[in-house]
Amino acid sequence: MVYVRVTDLTDYNFCPRKVYLKRILGLREETNYQIFLGKMIHDIFDNLNESEYKIVYEIDDDYDFQYILNLYKDYVLSLFEELVEKYNSDIEELKIDLEDLKVNVLSSIMFDIEDRAKLVYQHMRMEGIYGIELWDKLEPKILTEIDVRSEAYNLLGRIDRIEKYKRIMIPYEIKSGKMNRDHLIQIHAYYLLMKKEFPDYDIPHGVILYLKKKEKREVYFSKGILNKVFYIKNKVEDILENSKDPGVIKELDKCKRCAFYKYCYKNDRNRS
Ligand code: SF4
Repeated sequence: MVYVRVTDLTDYNFCPRKVYLKRILGLREETNYQIFLGKMIHDIFDNLNESEYKIVYEIDDDYDFQYILNLYKDYVLSLFEELVEKYNSDIEELKIDLEDLKVNVLSSIMFDIEDRAKLVYQHMRMEGIYGIELWDKLEPKILTEIDVRSEAYNLLGRIDRIEKYKRIMIPYEIKSGKMNRDHLIQIHAYYLLMKKEFPDYDIPHGVILYLKKKEKREVYFSKGILNKVFYIKNKVEDILENSKDPGVIKELDKCKRCAFYKYCYKNDRNRS
Protein backbone atom coordinates (compact mmCIF):
# COMPACT_ATOMS: atom_id res chain seq x y z
CA MET A 1 0.00 0.00 0.00
CA VAL A 2 1.37 3.43 -0.96
CA TYR A 3 1.07 6.04 1.78
CA VAL A 4 -1.09 9.07 1.15
CA ARG A 5 0.70 12.33 1.96
CA VAL A 6 -1.08 15.18 3.66
CA THR A 7 -0.05 17.40 0.74
CA ASP A 8 -1.88 14.96 -1.59
CA LEU A 9 -5.09 15.87 0.23
CA THR A 10 -4.71 19.59 -0.48
CA ASP A 11 -3.55 18.88 -4.03
CA TYR A 12 -6.66 16.73 -4.55
CA ASN A 13 -8.86 19.43 -3.14
CA PHE A 14 -7.38 21.88 -5.63
CA CYS A 15 -7.59 19.43 -8.52
CA PRO A 16 -7.59 15.60 -8.50
CA ARG A 17 -5.37 15.55 -11.58
CA LYS A 18 -2.60 17.28 -9.65
CA VAL A 19 -2.24 14.16 -7.49
CA TYR A 20 -2.00 11.99 -10.59
CA LEU A 21 0.62 14.21 -12.23
CA LYS A 22 2.79 14.45 -9.12
CA ARG A 23 2.45 11.00 -7.60
CA ILE A 24 1.97 8.75 -10.62
CA LEU A 25 3.85 10.61 -13.37
CA GLY A 26 6.38 12.11 -10.94
CA LEU A 27 6.09 15.66 -12.34
CA ARG A 28 7.31 18.51 -10.15
CA GLU A 29 5.90 21.97 -9.70
CA GLU A 30 8.25 24.63 -11.03
CA THR A 31 9.88 26.79 -8.40
CA ASN A 32 8.94 30.46 -8.56
CA TYR A 33 9.67 33.43 -6.31
CA GLN A 34 6.78 32.70 -3.91
CA ILE A 35 7.77 29.05 -3.51
CA PHE A 36 11.40 30.04 -2.97
CA LEU A 37 10.41 32.66 -0.40
CA GLY A 38 8.38 30.03 1.47
CA LYS A 39 11.36 27.66 1.43
CA MET A 40 13.68 30.35 2.87
CA ILE A 41 11.20 31.15 5.63
CA HIS A 42 10.69 27.50 6.56
CA ASP A 43 14.46 26.95 6.66
CA ILE A 44 15.00 29.95 8.89
CA PHE A 45 12.31 28.83 11.35
CA ASP A 46 13.65 25.29 11.28
CA ASN A 47 17.26 26.34 11.96
CA LEU A 48 16.27 28.90 14.55
CA ASN A 49 14.12 26.49 16.51
CA GLU A 50 16.79 23.82 16.48
CA SER A 51 19.42 26.23 17.77
CA GLU A 52 17.28 28.41 20.00
CA TYR A 53 18.91 27.02 23.14
CA LYS A 54 22.15 28.79 22.10
CA ILE A 55 20.36 32.16 22.15
CA VAL A 56 18.75 31.46 25.53
CA TYR A 57 22.07 30.30 27.02
CA GLU A 58 23.41 33.80 26.24
CA ILE A 59 20.74 35.36 28.47
CA ASP A 60 22.87 35.03 31.59
CA ASP A 61 21.69 38.19 33.35
CA ASP A 62 18.61 40.40 33.81
CA TYR A 63 18.71 41.92 30.32
CA ASP A 64 15.98 44.19 28.94
CA PHE A 65 13.59 43.07 26.23
CA GLN A 66 15.37 44.93 23.43
CA TYR A 67 18.64 43.12 24.20
CA ILE A 68 16.91 39.72 24.01
CA LEU A 69 15.09 40.65 20.83
CA ASN A 70 18.39 41.71 19.27
CA LEU A 71 19.90 38.31 20.07
CA TYR A 72 17.10 36.71 18.06
CA LYS A 73 17.34 39.26 15.24
CA ASP A 74 21.12 38.84 14.91
CA TYR A 75 20.73 35.09 14.78
CA VAL A 76 18.05 35.32 12.09
CA LEU A 77 20.22 37.65 10.00
CA SER A 78 23.16 35.26 10.18
CA LEU A 79 20.86 32.40 9.14
CA PHE A 80 19.63 34.47 6.22
CA GLU A 81 23.21 35.04 5.02
CA GLU A 82 23.99 31.30 5.31
CA LEU A 83 20.90 30.39 3.29
CA VAL A 84 21.73 32.93 0.59
CA GLU A 85 25.04 31.12 0.12
CA LYS A 86 23.38 27.72 0.20
CA TYR A 87 20.75 28.63 -2.38
CA ASN A 88 22.98 30.83 -4.51
CA SER A 89 22.25 28.93 -7.74
CA ASP A 90 18.44 29.13 -7.21
CA ILE A 91 18.73 32.86 -6.51
CA GLU A 92 20.66 33.40 -9.73
CA GLU A 93 18.35 31.20 -11.77
CA LEU A 94 15.22 32.98 -10.54
CA LYS A 95 16.97 36.39 -10.87
CA ILE A 96 16.01 37.29 -7.31
CA ASP A 97 16.97 40.70 -5.96
CA LEU A 98 18.71 40.01 -2.63
CA GLU A 99 17.56 43.20 -0.89
CA ASP A 100 13.98 42.51 -1.92
CA LEU A 101 14.27 38.93 -0.66
CA LYS A 102 15.71 40.10 2.66
CA VAL A 103 12.91 42.63 3.18
CA ASN A 104 10.25 40.04 2.34
CA VAL A 105 11.73 37.33 4.55
CA LEU A 106 12.25 39.60 7.55
CA SER A 107 8.90 41.37 7.29
CA SER A 108 7.20 37.95 7.13
CA ILE A 109 8.80 36.41 10.19
CA MET A 110 9.70 39.22 12.58
CA PHE A 111 6.33 39.43 14.35
CA ASP A 112 6.59 35.75 15.23
CA ILE A 113 10.21 36.12 16.36
CA GLU A 114 9.17 39.07 18.54
CA ASP A 115 6.43 36.95 20.16
CA ARG A 116 9.00 34.31 21.01
CA ALA A 117 11.51 36.84 22.39
CA LYS A 118 8.70 38.33 24.50
CA LEU A 119 7.84 34.93 25.94
CA VAL A 120 11.48 34.27 26.84
CA TYR A 121 11.79 37.74 28.41
CA GLN A 122 8.60 37.31 30.47
CA HIS A 123 9.75 33.87 31.65
CA MET A 124 13.10 35.28 32.71
CA ARG A 125 11.48 38.16 34.65
CA MET A 126 8.79 36.05 36.32
CA GLU A 127 11.04 33.15 37.35
CA GLY A 128 14.27 35.12 37.88
CA ILE A 129 16.25 32.44 36.04
CA TYR A 130 18.86 32.69 33.30
CA GLY A 131 20.93 30.71 30.80
CA ILE A 132 20.67 26.92 30.99
CA GLU A 133 18.08 27.02 33.78
CA LEU A 134 15.93 29.43 31.78
CA TRP A 135 16.10 27.13 28.76
CA ASP A 136 15.27 24.03 30.85
CA LYS A 137 12.15 25.62 32.31
CA LEU A 138 11.01 27.47 29.19
CA GLU A 139 7.58 26.41 27.95
CA PRO A 140 6.52 25.71 25.28
CA LYS A 141 9.51 24.22 23.51
CA ILE A 142 9.22 24.38 19.75
CA LEU A 143 9.73 21.36 17.51
CA THR A 144 9.99 21.86 13.76
CA GLU A 145 9.56 19.79 10.61
CA ILE A 146 8.21 16.78 12.48
CA ASP A 147 7.54 13.68 10.39
CA VAL A 148 4.39 11.85 11.44
CA ARG A 149 2.96 8.68 9.97
CA SER A 150 0.09 6.33 10.72
CA GLU A 151 -0.19 2.86 9.30
CA ALA A 152 -3.78 2.64 10.51
CA TYR A 153 -4.73 5.71 8.48
CA ASN A 154 -2.27 5.03 5.67
CA LEU A 155 -1.29 8.67 5.95
CA LEU A 156 1.94 10.59 6.48
CA GLY A 157 3.03 14.20 6.66
CA ARG A 158 5.53 16.71 7.94
CA ILE A 159 4.30 19.25 10.47
CA ASP A 160 5.88 22.70 10.20
CA ARG A 161 5.91 23.33 13.93
CA ILE A 162 4.68 21.84 17.17
CA GLU A 163 4.46 23.80 20.41
CA LYS A 164 5.19 21.28 23.15
CA TYR A 165 3.99 21.79 26.71
CA LYS A 166 4.13 19.23 29.54
CA ARG A 167 0.83 17.57 28.60
CA ILE A 168 -0.24 19.51 25.54
CA MET A 169 0.90 19.81 21.95
CA ILE A 170 -0.25 22.41 19.43
CA PRO A 171 0.43 21.81 15.71
CA TYR A 172 1.22 24.83 13.53
CA GLU A 173 0.92 25.13 9.79
CA ILE A 174 2.94 28.07 8.45
CA LYS A 175 1.67 29.84 5.34
CA SER A 176 3.31 32.60 3.37
CA GLY A 177 0.32 32.91 1.02
CA LYS A 178 -3.35 33.80 1.43
CA MET A 179 -5.96 32.10 3.62
CA ASN A 180 -7.43 29.04 2.00
CA ARG A 181 -9.88 26.36 3.12
CA ASP A 182 -7.32 23.70 2.15
CA HIS A 183 -5.29 24.76 5.17
CA LEU A 184 -8.10 23.49 7.41
CA ILE A 185 -7.88 20.08 5.73
CA GLN A 186 -4.14 20.05 6.35
CA ILE A 187 -4.26 20.95 10.03
CA HIS A 188 -7.05 18.42 10.68
CA ALA A 189 -4.97 15.70 8.99
CA TYR A 190 -2.02 16.58 11.24
CA TYR A 191 -4.32 16.37 14.25
CA LEU A 192 -5.24 12.78 13.28
CA LEU A 193 -1.58 11.84 12.82
CA MET A 194 -0.51 13.47 16.09
CA LYS A 195 -3.24 11.66 18.06
CA LYS A 196 -1.64 8.41 16.90
CA GLU A 197 1.99 9.52 17.24
CA PHE A 198 1.70 11.29 20.60
CA PRO A 199 -1.13 9.53 22.47
CA ASP A 200 -0.05 10.92 25.87
CA TYR A 201 -0.63 14.53 24.86
CA ASP A 202 -3.79 16.59 24.55
CA ILE A 203 -4.16 18.47 21.29
CA PRO A 204 -6.84 21.07 22.06
CA HIS A 205 -6.50 23.00 18.82
CA GLY A 206 -4.13 23.82 15.97
CA VAL A 207 -2.82 27.11 14.63
CA ILE A 208 -2.40 28.35 11.07
CA LEU A 209 0.24 31.05 11.03
CA TYR A 210 -0.41 33.51 8.20
CA LEU A 211 2.84 35.38 7.77
CA LYS A 212 1.61 38.06 5.37
CA LYS A 213 -1.35 38.98 7.53
CA LYS A 214 0.72 38.52 10.69
CA GLU A 215 -2.10 36.43 12.08
CA LYS A 216 -2.18 33.29 14.20
CA ARG A 217 -5.50 31.66 13.50
CA GLU A 218 -6.59 29.09 16.08
CA VAL A 219 -8.41 26.13 14.57
CA TYR A 220 -10.67 23.91 16.68
CA PHE A 221 -11.04 20.46 15.20
CA SER A 222 -14.45 19.61 13.76
CA LYS A 223 -16.02 16.27 12.92
CA GLY A 224 -17.20 17.62 9.56
CA ILE A 225 -13.69 18.47 8.38
CA LEU A 226 -12.22 15.25 9.80
CA ASN A 227 -14.78 13.35 7.72
CA LYS A 228 -13.74 15.38 4.71
CA VAL A 229 -10.10 14.37 5.33
CA PHE A 230 -11.11 10.69 5.22
CA TYR A 231 -13.28 11.22 2.16
CA ILE A 232 -10.45 12.88 0.20
CA LYS A 233 -7.92 10.33 1.44
CA ASN A 234 -10.05 7.51 -0.01
CA LYS A 235 -10.22 9.33 -3.33
CA VAL A 236 -6.43 9.81 -3.38
CA GLU A 237 -5.92 6.13 -2.55
CA ASP A 238 -8.05 5.25 -5.54
CA ILE A 239 -5.81 7.34 -7.83
CA LEU A 240 -2.61 5.89 -6.35
CA GLU A 241 -3.72 2.26 -6.35
CA ASN A 242 -5.16 2.29 -9.85
CA SER A 243 -2.83 4.86 -11.49
CA LYS A 244 -6.04 6.54 -12.56
CA ASP A 245 -5.92 9.87 -14.42
CA PRO A 246 -8.94 11.92 -13.28
CA GLY A 247 -8.60 14.14 -16.36
CA VAL A 248 -8.45 17.89 -16.87
CA ILE A 249 -10.98 19.81 -14.80
CA LYS A 250 -13.31 22.27 -16.49
CA GLU A 251 -12.19 25.32 -14.53
CA LEU A 252 -9.93 27.32 -16.81
CA ASP A 253 -9.39 30.10 -14.24
CA LYS A 254 -8.03 27.58 -11.78
CA CYS A 255 -5.91 25.87 -14.43
CA LYS A 256 -4.31 29.18 -15.36
CA ARG A 257 -3.13 29.53 -11.76
CA CYS A 258 -1.78 25.98 -11.68
CA ALA A 259 1.89 25.02 -12.08
CA PHE A 260 0.82 22.27 -14.53
CA TYR A 261 -1.13 24.55 -16.88
CA LYS A 262 1.32 24.11 -19.76
CA TYR A 263 1.39 20.34 -19.28
CA CYS A 264 -2.39 19.89 -19.18
CA TYR A 265 -3.04 22.28 -22.06
CA LYS A 266 -0.17 21.37 -24.32
CA ASN A 267 -2.47 19.60 -26.76
CA ASP A 268 -6.10 19.87 -27.84
CA ARG A 269 -6.86 16.37 -26.61
CA ASN A 270 -6.71 17.59 -23.02
CA ARG A 271 -9.04 20.53 -23.57
CA SER A 272 -12.60 19.44 -23.41
S1 SF4 B 1 -3.86 22.59 -15.08
FE1 SF4 B 1 -5.96 22.31 -14.44
S2 SF4 B 1 -6.39 20.13 -14.82
FE2 SF4 B 1 -4.18 20.38 -14.89
S3 SF4 B 1 -3.52 19.86 -12.82
FE3 SF4 B 1 -3.76 22.08 -12.91
S4 SF4 B 1 -5.83 22.48 -12.21
FE4 SF4 B 1 -5.69 20.32 -12.72
